[in-house]
Amino acid sequence: MSGFSFEVLDRDQVSNARAGLIKTRRGDIQTPYLVPVATLGSVRALGSDDLVSLGVSCALANTYHLHLKPGDELIRRLGGLHRFMGFSRPLFTDSGGFQAFSLGFGREHNIAKIGNIFPQELNLIPGGNDCQQQGDEQCEEEPLESEIYRSNYRKSYGGGAKEGSKRADGKGQKNARKENLTKITDQGISFKSMADGAWHFLDAERSMRIQSNLGSDIIMSFDECTSPLSDYDYTKKAMYRTHDWAEESIRYHDKSQAIYGIIQGGWFEDLRRTSTDFIVSQPFDGIAIGGSLGNSKQDMHQVLDWTIPRLDDRPRHLLGIGEIDDIFECVARGIDTFDCVSPTRIARRGSLLLSPQSGGSRQNKFRLNIKSARFKGDDLPVDPACSCPTCCTYSRAYLRHLYVSRELSYFRLATLHNLHFMLRLMESIRESIRCGSFMELRDRWLKAI
Ligand SMILES: [Zn+2]
Repeated sequence: MSGFSFEVLDRDQVSNARAGLIKTRRGDIQTPYLVPVATLGSVRALGSDDLVSLGVSCALANTYHLHLKPGDELIRRLGGLHRFMGFSRPLFTDSGGFQAFSLGFGREHNIAKIGNIFPQELNLIPGGNDCQQQGDEQCEEEPLESEIYRSNYRKSYGGGAKEGSKRADGKGQKNARKENLTKITDQGISFKSMADGAWHFLDAERSMRIQSNLGSDIIMSFDECTSPLSDYDYTKKAMYRTHDWAEESIRYHDKSQAIYGIIQGGWFEDLRRTSTDFIVSQPFDGIAIGGSLGNSKQDMHQVLDWTIPRLDDRPRHLLGIGEIDDIFECVARGIDTFDCVSPTRIARRGSLLLSPQSGGSRQNKFRLNIKSARFKGDDLPVDPACSCPTCCTYSRAYLRHLYVSRELSYFRLATLHNLHFMLRLMESIRESIRCGSFMELRDRWLKAI
């Protein structure tokens, strides 16, 4: 028995927003919730004790990457992922299927590398190409971080030196096609490891076994995530493949783990409807919405409007989305949980989150750029309205100094702020749904100037 249950506790009268409670064998998750991403069993720059101090209820780790390094069998022998990473609260794992996109078509066509799931919105605003990606921190360019992290990664795990050095010096060909590192058949997905160049094969049975070895509490069915550039015929083929793999995932999964099915179908109305009806017909504990969500945020809203009315009251997870405006729009449509690398990734790149009281708005994506010279002598905290450990102790001037001096402590302090900020935002969203003021809160944030 997985010990999993979900209950909707309050519903907004104006929108489809709902507040609920997911119960797992390792603790509860109040929804709506943004699940922090711990790709390799770590929310980058933080320890698991930091997560507990911040009040994090759960995290999401990456099946494919942990399978490669350090290996799911090793993690199982060491007592499972919770023990390995020193985190006793609920863990989600993805299925590994997303890498079919990020290492395959997306990599070849530079979508994952540029890192925006909505190609039409690339570079419209400064920092606009910061990634919203599903649980995959391995395809990013981080100039400051790369000097330390990537060289250590290569030293420890070997291989990839040529590609790694290209990334570290930032001279990669931005628009050049790269090798497609996946081969997909009806049987499963073959991946070429970026670490050592070896080919690995994943199918539903193996994905379920790996997730069982990791011992996560909520697992995802094996799926193929298509690209916004995939055509109708390919998306349809991938969707039916995903449905077959969903049935296999139910058959093979560890019954002590709760399992979510993943809806695919790209940005095609009939496919989304077909996929939704199929996944809903299966005995999953929860429903995840994955895959390409179109070419713009409006397309994403359209996909949700096709999908959500066909769902029942099982918990709904939107994979790989977590920008502030998206969270409001998707909660309003009835999404319960999200996961996204964006808040922690942008922190490491110098973008710190800012509330409307402190000047955050849709126009600046609720961010300030700590690299800016205007913060050189700024004695204010990052966000004067924030009560995180960073804002309680340090100034913008100090954080800017750490960033430009390439001090490692910058990563931790910046990540603490952005994560605390998002946790408090989700808390205020839950509270507003309970109090019947969700749409007022939404307007206060999204209409802030
Ligand atoms: Zn703060």
